[in-house]
Amino acid sequence: MRTFKGKPVSPGIAVGKVYQYKAFTCDVYETYVQPGGEQAALAAYRNAVREADAELGRIIGTFSPQDREQAKIFEAHRAILTDDEMDEEIRRAILEQQQSADFAVDRVCTEFAALLGAAPDANIAARAADVRDVRNRLLRILHGEKEHDLSRLPFPCVVVAHDLLPSDTATIDRNHVLAIVTEVGGATSHSAILARSFEIPAILGVPDATQALLDGGEVVVDALTGEVLAEPDAETLSRFRAQREAYLANRNETRQYLSLPAETKDGTAVEIGLNIGSGANWPENGGFSFVGLFRTEFLYMERDSLPTEDEQTAAYHKVLELAAGRLVTLRTLDIGGDKTLPALPLPKEENPFLGCRALRLSLNHRDLFLTQLRAALRSSVYGPIQIMFPMVGSLEDLRAGKAALEEAKAQLAAKGIPFDPDVPVGIMVEIPSIAILADEAARECDFASVGTNDLCQYLFAADRMNPLTAEYYQTFSPAMFRILNAVFGAFHRAGKPVSVCGEMAGDPEAAPVLLGLGLRKFSMNASAIPAVKRALRSVTLAEAEALARAVCAADTQSEVLALIRQHG
Ligand code: PEP
Ligand code: MG
Repeated sequence: MRTFKGKPVSPGIAVGKVYQYKAFTCDVYETYVQPGGEQAALAAYRNAVREADAELGRIIGTFSPQDREQAKIFEAHRAILTDDEMDEEIRRAILEQQQSADFAVDRVCTEFAALLGAAPDANIAARAADVRDVRNRLLRILHGEKEHDLSRLPFPCVVVAHDLLPSDTATIDRNHVLAIVTEVGGATSHSAILARSFEIPAILGVPDATQALLDGGEVVVDALTGEVLAEPDAETLSRFRAQREAYLANRNETRQYLSLPAETKDGTAVEIGLNIGSGANWPENGGFSFVGLFRTEFLYMERDSLPTEDEQTAAYHKVLELAAGRLVTLRTLDIGGDKTLPALPLPKEENPFLGCRALRLSLNHRDLFLTQLRAALRSSVYGPIQIMFPMVGSLEDLRAGKAALEEAKAQLAAKGIPFDPDVPVGIMVEIPSIAILADEAARECDFASVGTNDLCQYLFAADRMNPLTAEYYQTFSPAMFRILNAVFGAFHRAGKPVSVCGEMAGDPEAAPVLLGLGLRKFSMNASAIPAVKRALRSVTLAEAEALARAVCAADTQSEVLALIRQHG
């Protein structure tokens, strides 16, 4: 038996036989058409585009209405296929440089993919795979080959490939695929996103998987830990079969919790909030009573120009409509750090996470900030909304943010545009300085939400993006729980609402401790809701409080984890 390690991007366990998949590849040579042959080459390219468009239409047609998000990936492929800039470059390469149709398609698409792949933003860089997917489709059609994909697998199997394009994963035979293992690919790639939404266990980035895992050979895929076991012995096979059963039973049981009330075993009510990036991924099944974090920067990130005030108002209106009367917490732009805006080139900074990020950037780009604040205020007539500033480090920051909000109100009032003048204004607590000044901050704002992702990185001076500092980024350290305790206490004393919207709120191991520290508002990604409700419903308030006291009195993160696991 041999063990390999990769990155688990979609959880689960599988035991089965390997099916090696070799995606379509072809050699494209630098070839040119004879003078006079340009129009025929252009016609061949245009035909290939039409046929590719028809294939994509068929793929989109296979998705059910619940799979709208997946279908969007292929709508994006259609948009790439008809992208004016790319189309014009291919047309000119054929007509003006006499390049053959396949050479022109390959060259232009490869250049566009390389441009996207070099983007500092991981989400934009991951879109290079979509352009390559479209290129392969066109080349296959130009080379006269039939569609070759994973839509009909011969037996229940673990698909092993060098890489899977989004279209491979989207059309995969879901009745027969047990798991996916590839040599390349990242957690934000569309293949990973699709695998998660189809609940197919997946491990990416297993070096030499196609060499090591033989076609038809037995394999265990543990996509909880990232381990792949080739040629497992009988004992290992039966152990993992049992683990798989237990995992599936546990997942099904956890699902039942989504629609149950969020409360402790002895009936203390807790509010569950939702974190969203835009209205696009709105969860169908609910299970939450407010939107605790609307990360508005995502509206700005996927476009080349800044959204106008009207466009933003419309986007916020849509989210309020989806929220259907539930309070929406709109966080103003949080750009900088790892997030960049194509429409706003920023100077390079040595330490961008310690630089001109979030509220600091908004205060430096006042027009941008005022435009967003006016849009947020205008949307307040459509439903309950509150405005939250990210990266507040001092009372001066908070006051400057509030002054900008007053200016935006005055601008709207001068034009007679309606808005709610009493929109609550709050802060993210994610810089330790404001956590220390929480009593003072609580006097000057209406609410707070703790961003534990950043709070942890600034508290421990450990970059949240850097795998080399992962062991220093101690979310479960007693230091984190003590600082949280201080923040919750300050806002409760002031009678002001406080929530947590960092990843910690969606972690079922942290939830009972946060509850015991007094937290009653947890905001998280939709997928985390059932497990957190389950964790909260399995403790009494007194048990959670005792656990929180023990955790705060501990010395180290490992002691805290032991206490939590002993309790669970
Ligand atoms: C946080 O820092 O915890 C947070 C919720 O904000 P973001 O992850 O967007 O920085
Ligand atoms: Mg943050």
